[in-house]
Amino acid sequence: MTAIHTNTYPNSYYFSSLNYATDYPKLAESISVDVCIVGGGFSGVATAVELAERGYKVALLEQHKIGWGASGRNGGQIIRGIGHDLAKFKKVIGQQGINTITALGTSANKIVIDRINKYHIDCDLTMGYCDLATRAKHMKTLEQDYQILINSDYPHSIKMLDQNTLQQQVVGSTNFIGGFEDQGSGHLHPLNLCTGEAKVAADLGVQIFENSAVEEIIQGDTVTIKSAQGQIIAKKLVLAGNAYLGDLMPKISNKVLPAGSYIIATEPLSESVYQQILPGNHAVCDLKIDLDYFRLSADKRLLFGGMCNYSGRDPKSIQAALYPKMLKVFPQLSDINIDYQWGGMIGIGANRLPQIGRLANNIYYAQAYSGHGVNITHVAAKLIAQAIDGPSTGFDTFAKVKHLTFPGGQHLRSPLLALGMMYHKMLDKF
Ligand SMILES: Cc1cc2nc3c(=O)[nH]c(=O)nc-3n(C[C@H](O)[C@H](O)[C@H](O)COP(=O)(O)OP(=O)(O)OC[C@H]3O[C@@H](n4cnc5c(N)ncnc54)[C@H](O)[C@@H]3O)c2cc1C
Repeated sequence: MTAIHTNTYPNSYYFSSLNYATDYPKLAESISVDVCIVGGGFSGVATAVELAERGYKVALLEQHKIGWGASGRNGGQIIRGIGHDLAKFKKVIGQQGINTITALGTSANKIVIDRINKYHIDCDLTMGYCDLATRAKHMKTLEQDYQILINSDYPHSIKMLDQNTLQQQVVGSTNFIGGFEDQGSGHLHPLNLCTGEAKVAADLGVQIFENSAVEEIIQGDTVTIKSAQGQIIAKKLVLAGNAYLGDLMPKISNKVLPAGSYIIATEPLSESVYQQILPGNHAVCDLKIDLDYFRLSADKRLLFGGMCNYSGRDPKSIQAALYPKMLKVFPQLSDINIDYQWGGMIGIGANRLPQIGRLANNIYYAQAYSGHGVNITHVAAKLIAQAIDGPSTGFDTFAKVKHLTFPGGQHLRSPLLALGMMYHKMLDKF
């Protein structure tokens, strides 16, 4: 069995190619700050950068290592938009709200790309992404997405691709019948982005503490955040623990379902092989409910991900589960070795809209990006920093939406959702 959730980084391709090794101290004192952030993933680290850039005194507490959670384990696909149909929220946020969130989604990648460029973060940013259709109904959906974007002011090149063009330019596989290519989306090394941003935050004066799990939060005019050996007294608190927050604040963690997603990484491929399977070096993702997502790493491994698991239990062998899926797409890789396998927890909300809001006047949170977090975490961070600093229309729009508490509490909500998802996967298959 692969150890997926130990307190050190998993043995992933990302950890093996880490550029910004971190060695932040454990909290072992009492300090006072303007804002304390709990969670050292993209949500927490990007919020720290945003606040430090605005001049706030900030401390960040991570229970393990920076980027230990989903942010340092994901597919690295940076995909435009919020990722979900907003029409169903019209009653609550109105057309104006839909427009606000749509605009934030369109500009989300830019926040990340600007940050990488501004601070020279070394994280293999590569532009080029393609949604893949395996059925006629997927092509219809992609055609609709394309029409919406072409009629908007989306500033990047987008193209609908037929099966032949897709095979020649994007994916050397007969599994797909067409695709939608977007040069405004792409891929990157997520652990290097997260640890690189943490370095930026630290350089801007943020006090970062690793191996410092928050065990208790005492609310009041100021908030006291306690770890085993220290405490932080803060004017404001930001909770960014997402799928890993556990029992620390059940009011928000009960609205998130942790769902496992998994990745295998091949050995580096020869030029003839990688040029054949992904000739344009795109990140790609299909539209099935049980979706596959894959891309090349900078050293030309295939990183093949998928198998979202809602049971709350990790598979016995990630490789055994994902390898047949990879061979279904690329039978030509049957002689290639798998060097790494790992997984992590995605935070899923019932209505799939990212949950960005306030628990009290001085407690903010962001979570539940439902598998679309590389860029939206950075939108959430910007909105929370704006809201702490003054008014924020974007923050207020997200905060208006109420989110359902999953029934079943910590232990039963995963099995309940697993049943629901099995039903939807079955419908998708037939
Ligand atoms: C395998 C996988 C593939 C994915 N692929 C993609 C993709 O290709 N593109 C995309 O956009 N999104 C993808 N996602 C989703 C994306 O990674 C997440 O949405 C995003 O990283 C969430 O960031 P976060 O900071 O909110 O949470 P996390 O990165 O999970 O960070 C939360 C942190 O909080 C810490 N924490 C929790 N409780 C405490 C506490 N009490 N005290 C101190 N620290 C605490 C945790 O240790 C953790 O490090 C994927 C996710 C997974 C797991």
